[in-house]
Amino acid sequence: MLKTVFFDLDDTLLDFKKAEDNAIRETLRALSLDPSDENAARYSRINGAHWKMLERGEITRKELLTHRFEVLFDELHVMRSPEAAQKVYETALSEGAFAMPNAIETLTALYRHYDLYLVTNGADKIQSRRVQIADMGKFFKNIFVSERFGVNKPHIEFFEKCFERIPDFKKEEAVIIGDSLSSDIKGGNIAGIRTIWYNPLHKTNDIGVIVHHEIADLRELPTLLSSLSENFQD
Ligand SMILES: [Mg+2]
Repeated sequence: MLKTVFFDLDDTLLDFKKAEDNAIRETLRALSLDPSDENAARYSRINGAHWKMLERGEITRKELLTHRFEVLFDELHVMRSPEAAQKVYETALSEGAFAMPNAIETLTALYRHYDLYLVTNGADKIQSRRVQIADMGKFFKNIFVSERFGVNKPHIEFFEKCFERIPDFKKEEAVIIGDSLSSDIKGGNIAGIRTIWYNPLHKTNDIGVIVHHEIADLRELPTLLSSLSENFQD
């Protein structure tokens, strides 16, 4: 039987790239900097690198929040306050909730049949607000945000904290769905649950993690999950 379904949030159910792009342009504008495509792309690259560093445990979440702006302003050769930038950015980002293609209809089809949980790396306030704006909260039994636990996906402690908060949880009745090989799929492998890679851009699995199933469209999930449910051991 398949009972528990963990969903990643960013770039699985909500379009983080769009939210991030909106937020950084608003931040640049607020600091009288050019909100150009080039500057937005520059920030996105720097920010992505910082999140990978956080996943690898090389920096803390608190360091990440301002250091990414420090690097950005260094590269742009301007003097601005990273703390001020972070404040504007956080507010703008928490208002950015754009559903990924077919996310709402898929959640609508699934939530009566399975216990859905969100597992997301990020700031509690921002992620909770974005889920609320997207009107997705009603689909989930609980929302697990890494900041609340003080540890991120893919670390085992993150998943242990989720598992202990789910009544009668059994690993063999669970599956995780996400777009990131390094946090969702690797996390699922470490935690010992089945993995579904949401891979709409048909990327290659280049980090050697175990992908049990792969989908390119969220609409594939209802059929996939019901076939898994039949094959799962009771
Ligand atoms: Mg993601």
